Amino acid sequence: MCGIVCYVGKQKAKPILLEGLKRLEYRGYDSAGLAVQNGPHIDCFKAVGKIIELEKKINDLEIEGASGIAHTRWATHGEPSEINAHPQTDQEENVFVIHNGIIENFYILKRKLEKSGATFSSETDTEVLAHLIARNFDGSLQEAVRKTMTQVEGTFGLAVIHREAPGEVVVARRGSPLIIGVGKDGNFAASDVAAMVRYTNEVIHLNDNELALITEDQVSISTAQAKAVTRAIEKVEWQPEDAELNGFPHFMLKEIYEQPETARNAMRGRLELSEGVSKLGGIMPVWDQLKECRHMVFVACGTSYHAGCVGRYIFERLTEIDVEVEIASEFRYRKLNFPPNTFIVAISQSGETADTLAAIREARRKGARLLGIVNVVGSSISRETEAGIYNHAGPEIGVASTKIFVSQLVILTLLAVLLGRHQKLSLTEGVEAIKALSNLPDLLRRVLSQDNHIQAIAEKYYCCNNWLFLGRKYEYPIALEAALKLKEISYIHAEGYPAGEMKHGPIALINPDMPTVAIVPQDSMYEKMMSNIQEVKSRRGPIIAIATEGDRKIRELADEVIEVPPTLEYLYPALTVVPCQLLAYYCARFLNRDIDKPRNLAKSVTVE
Ligand code: GLU
Repeated sequence: MCGIVCYVGKQKAKPILLEGLKRLEYRGYDSAGLAVQNGPHIDCFKAVGKIIELEKKINDLEIEGASGIAHTRWATHGEPSEINAHPQTDQEENVFVIHNGIIENFYILKRKLEKSGATFSSETDTEVLAHLIARNFDGSLQEAVRKTMTQVEGTFGLAVIHREAPGEVVVARRGSPLIIGVGKDGNFAASDVAAMVRYTNEVIHLNDNELALITEDQVSISTAQAKAVTRAIEKVEWQPEDAELNGFPHFMLKEIYEQPETARNAMRGRLELSEGVSKLGGIMPVWDQLKECRHMVFVACGTSYHAGCVGRYIFERLTEIDVEVEIASEFRYRKLNFPPNTFIVAISQSGETADTLAAIREARRKGARLLGIVNVVGSSISRETEAGIYNHAGPEIGVASTKIFVSQLVILTLLAVLLGRHQKLSLTEGVEAIKALSNLPDLLRRVLSQDNHIQAIAEKYYCCNNWLFLGRKYEYPIALEAALKLKEISYIHAEGYPAGEMKHGPIALINPDMPTVAIVPQDSMYEKMMSNIQEVKSRRGPIIAIATEGDRKIRELADEVIEVPPTLEYLYPALTVVPCQLLAYYCARFLNRDIDKPRNLAKSVTVE
């Protein structure tokens, strides 16, 4: 999920690799490392933290060698540490490999390798690649990688060097990006053009299940099945700065567009369709107590809190567990009288949110069990909870959280399905849930395809100073989240309300200058929502509806309609939130706001 840079050529590799790593810094990472080869000699250095830490270690060292590989890591397996940073090696240190992605069957492979004498030094899934490639090596690095590709499941963009193959870098991909750069006196490979665009603008895209042998003057691509591939060189027009955003004007928009992939990453290796159940290795340490649990409290802040609010409805639909959702900063002021076997579930992107941390510490004192749903591996919350589930969403750079919300909804659904299947859910319902989850990435893409339409709506209404968002049941937290997004990046005042509450107050505000966004998919709340929309209409308030594809009734009432494809009721929120994110984004853009760094806000809120 993070960054790869490789070089083979005539110049010294060290400065080129370091420069490339710096170009990938914007993606966020927790550690970095590189390996430079000079004949049979390979120098490898790693450091936790920023690239400057790695640079400090090697700045004064004469590192000869004109080929090498370098990596920024975003930990998924094993906390950020020097040992877990890449390159990873086999025990003889013949092979050095860097890897983005997740090897899903690493645990089985690791056990097998250990049985046959391998000793592992890191906690990473990546290390199995190093051991496998070393064992499969029989004079040809390319063939060793090819064979390894048939043994591993999951996703990878990888690059590897071998002591006995000087002047060669082999790269391969399945599910994680890898691009080859063709230079004048040397060739490159990277996970992102940003890392090479300073040296060359001629690139070749590697497809899934392909590998490439790269030398100083040659690039040969083939498939995992050993079929040679010829592919034309493409020219990239980007400037280095543009490339970092992959052509998007803001990280927020880039991350909104990453959501199909984020949803897929949250489910990767975790779905068992035939059993109608999910597999969540991270909660196994507490499984015996968890499966008996009948009371949970979700604690979170901001966007994660809204994910928790949707999660409550999902749990109540799929499990026998009663769920409370608490804003973390308020949690301590509650009378914390937990029934036995209560699980507190802390939800946090960064895993460092101070209020959430304080809440779980308090809960521990009162005897509750602790689970975490966090994105950052090895973060404080992941360490202070007994067990948990990682989002595997990669770094989120935009301050206004988007992709992590969808990821949290997926994870909460996976957890609810797993527990539900032990409690009340039938096989049929389980299978239905898993099927719908696996379709989610495609449905998200369909929602994103309405980008231009949503932009046009934003253009029409961005001058309105007050907005109301309405939803019921599953969509009520989406109304809250939508209002939060609009407030935080466009500075427009917005309120999210349960639609039924409107007549108890906010209806007084309705006028032709105040748009109401009604989140009204065809679910069990549809008819009730239609009545609320009618109430707004009667007071001449403009209505922007987010509705299910093909809904003709809503078109008679609403001024604007944004469509989402049909799905299960409890998965609609993962779709309906996307138009809300785009509306907020485009309003902020029309207002010339600093979208990725809104005023007064910080990405990871580490103060209470
Ligand atoms: N799964 C690997 C690890 O945790 C790679 C992470 C990445 O993509 O940076 O080490």
